[in-house]
Amino acid sequence: MVGALATGCATANVSPGASGTGPNASPSAASAPGSPQAGEPATSPSVASALPPGLILHGPRTRKWVALTFDADMTPAMVAELRAGTVASWFDTRILAILQSTRTPATVFLTGLWARTYPDVVRKLASDPRIDLANHTFDHSAFEGLCYGLPIVAGGDAAKRSEVEQAAQAIQQIDGIAPRWFRFPGGCSSASDVGLVQSLGETPVQWDVVSGDAFQPDPSVVIRDVLSRVRPGSIVAMHFIGAPNAPATATALLTIIPMLRARGFSFVTLDALLGGALPPR
Ligand SMILES: [Zn+2]
Repeated sequence: MVGALATGCATANVSPGASGTGPNASPSAASAPGSPQAGEPATSPSVASALPPGLILHGPRTRKWVALTFDADMTPAMVAELRAGTVASWFDTRILAILQSTRTPATVFLTGLWARTYPDVVRKLASDPRIDLANHTFDHSAFEGLCYGLPIVAGGDAAKRSEVEQAAQAIQQIDGIAPRWFRFPGGCSSASDVGLVQSLGETPVQWDVVSGDAFQPDPSVVIRDVLSRVRPGSIVAMHFIGAPNAPATATALLTIIPMLRARGFSFVTLDALLGGALPPR
């Protein structure tokens, strides 16, 4: 159940040490009626039908292309953990090293706070032609309630717009290009949230393959989940932040990347996978 609920959210509002599996394992998230089903894997028909229209879940199913996407979560609490020294880093350097050594295109969804914390890394990402940068809000607050224990954006639509715009500015200051793709923290959104993001010129992107790397210590579980779910056009949701919140991502990639290539898949950025639907730039 926990694996099925694990999503694009690896933010430790609930201490991962409390359960070993993070906020997705909390009783309220796991069992309460109205728990955040919007964040569940879109491969479940009942869940997919609960997602608001307008969210992109995958690309065309006609080519064996797959987009690896990595969320660079950062909340004020995570910044505090860095400052206190209780967490050494929210950037798993091995992930970028693996992507670069295997020449694997990918898309990184940055929070504004992550970009501010690691500006040199963002510059490095921006200078890599195989990596696209995308928007994951300023401080990873939830746009809708019951979202894995994440604090909710306070202040209504104006605050939501600010979440999108502040992150876009932080990315654009470094990358020089305004982000085109946006992902809701925890994957939690309403139809009006989707419209709000679209009105700001960005396109909300969910996923159809949840890697389950949030609070998952065993790489073999992540490998199994990804390899069993990827189809042509899939968008795979993973995390860029490493331990303690996503400790197995890098090790799992060492198997996932060659295995998918052996099956005939090519890795592409979201621009490549989805860009045909949008004006070129
Ligand atoms: Zn996230």
